[in-house]
Amino acid sequence: MAEAADVLVVGAGLAGLTAARELTSAGHSVLVLEARDRVGGRVVNEDIGDGKIVEMGGQWAGPGQDKIYALAAGLGIATFPTYDTGKKVLHFNGRRGTYAGAIPRINPLVLADIGQAQARLEAMARKIPVDAPWTAARAGWLDGQTLETWARKNTGSRTARKLLALAAEAIFGAEPADLSLLHVLFYSHSAGAFQRLIDTTGGAQQDRFVGGSALIADRLAASLGGIVRLGSPVTRIEVTGSKVTATTTAGQFEGRRIVVTTPPHLAGRIEYTPQLPGWRDQLTQRTPMGSVIKTQVFYDEPFWRAEGLSGQATGDCPGARIVFDNTPPDGSPGILLAFLEGDQARRLSRQPAGTRRQAVVDSLAQYFGPRAAKPAGYRELDWQQEKWSGGCYGTLFGPSVWTRYGHGLRTPVGPIHWAGTETATAWAGYMDGAIRSGERVAAEVSQQLTV
Ligand SMILES: Cc1cc2nc3c(=O)[nH]c(=O)nc-3n(C[C@H](O)[C@H](O)[C@H](O)COP(=O)(O)OP(=O)(O)OC[C@H]3O[C@@H](n4cnc5c(N)ncnc54)[C@H](O)[C@@H]3O)c2cc1C
Repeated sequence: MAEAADVLVVGAGLAGLTAARELTSAGHSVLVLEARDRVGGRVVNEDIGDGKIVEMGGQWAGPGQDKIYALAAGLGIATFPTYDTGKKVLHFNGRRGTYAGAIPRINPLVLADIGQAQARLEAMARKIPVDAPWTAARAGWLDGQTLETWARKNTGSRTARKLLALAAEAIFGAEPADLSLLHVLFYSHSAGAFQRLIDTTGGAQQDRFVGGSALIADRLAASLGGIVRLGSPVTRIEVTGSKVTATTTAGQFEGRRIVVTTPPHLAGRIEYTPQLPGWRDQLTQRTPMGSVIKTQVFYDEPFWRAEGLSGQATGDCPGARIVFDNTPPDGSPGILLAFLEGDQARRLSRQPAGTRRQAVVDSLAQYFGPRAAKPAGYRELDWQQEKWSGGCYGTLFGPSVWTRYGHGLRTPVGPIHWAGTETATAWAGYMDGAIRSGERVAAEVSQQLTV
């Protein structure tokens, strides 16, 4: 006999768990079907001993992300500021320099060039309707070009374009050529501004969660009281009359409505009976994930702090191009979080693990000197290899996807509803957006169940 509930939720990430919580509070019975043997999806803690963890997935929150702060606080999880004291390192075009504040010490002409390009992006982003980017003025023109082609016309120097590429890698795990300009503008507006996506203090990297972001998912799941079924990847969704049946490798489940919270490309790998309309299937054919390997490099202590450095570094080294101090709140061990993103992740993913580790450590030595060359430990997670994510941080929208298929992102198909951070209109791609999408879909489903 299939287990049954009013609503089946596919995926126990922050979106699925939030949807389940909202639906249960509204009085509906819910079952959450999760492919992995853990909850959290793109948030995951890794034990490093001494009762401490590192986060191998999403970790930061910042101003404007009210939903994630509120959820964590409600579950008794405190935040602490990302270490942001001291100078930052920029290693670019073969030269290393340090700088205080937000503006690197580079050629003022290049700074003016990049500043002007960013100001143009910010102004264009403000005009994009976040709930329907395809209705923006000149949407087809914006969506018909990539950030790369736009940058070629709107910047005067190669260095400005390289800096813009670094920002794209850091924000999307992708290269400017992967991204529709309209998508970059939508994403910026959904976060408030492009600058917010980049900043530490005052931006999306401002705060961390004590005990790790995955604790939020763990506690949220625990509060749901046994409705999450782990190790249950949904392979098939069948709609017959007023009933929807989800087939998993661990059995069948029945409901009146089903909410799919996976990233769109994974929703596209589920078999649907009857077949989904072409507009939805073609959307999921066009929504790949970003390319990221998250690495954590351990030292006995955060030695860079004593040298007046914040631990934040960026540059064009062949290893890590974005680095943060990720030391636990008590200051030990010292941890540098080094991201491999976009083309770096794609290239280094194909190398042996030892080569990859060496590339990361070598780049840290370029940023922070010889002490960084002798780490005490190293961990990495290649999200491109994660079967139930397929990459991160989120879905990339290339040219023509928003304008041709954007309407299919949230539009339900019969009793099948869609959620997940990709469907959010505020903080899309972030933990906060995932929660917002869970709340939105729960209201949508609840309304359907009560008519
Ligand atoms: C390395 C990394 C760094 C990041 N950094 C940040 C950050 O600092 N701040 C921030 O806010 N965000 C960050 N993010 C993004 C953030 O983690 C995500 O936006 C958010 O967690 C997405 O939640 P979700 O519930 O929408 O999707 P997911 O977490 O992807 O949840 C979907 C769930 O569905 C499951 N699933 C997939 N297919 C099936 C199936 N067929 N059947 C059943 N279950 C299935 C998956 O296992 C998963 O648990 C980062 C992500 C990564 C990976």
